[in-house]
Amino acid sequence: MSPAPGSTDPCILVVEDNPANMMLVRALLARLSCRLVEATSGAQALAEVETQPPDLILMDLQLPDIDGLSLTRQLKEAEGTRHIPIIALTAHAMAGDEETARAAGCDGYLTKPLDTRSFCPYVERYLINAGGGE
Ligand code: MN
Repeated sequence: MSPAPGSTDPCILVVEDNPANMMLVRALLARLSCRLVEATSGAQALAEVETQPPDLILMDLQLPDIDGLSLTRQLKEAEGTRHIPIIALTAHAMAGDEETARAAGCDGYLTKPLDTRSFCPYVERYLINAGGGE
């Protein structure tokens, strides 16, 4: 799976271990002009980021090998990846979780189940910001 040569579509990395959630995100993002890269674990996400730095990361906070907040901190501490916007995706959200996610470096925050109407407009805002001013 290599990207089309000369493609300027933004690349979104979706880090999500739940197949049903991944399928939903994939279906929703099909409405946008973007390339989708999928990872089902933190290790796979790091490998993908290294291979092809995405323009945006959608980060499930509950992953099998590392929690999404630790992974977010790791990416935000690294020179080469700190500019990549990260939107947290979380189930079982509780009061204070958004503050915790933002403190870890998450730029955006969405709770599951995802709101299928507002999802794409929300994601697009971060893509526009990612490419803004160039
Ligand atoms: Mn999960």
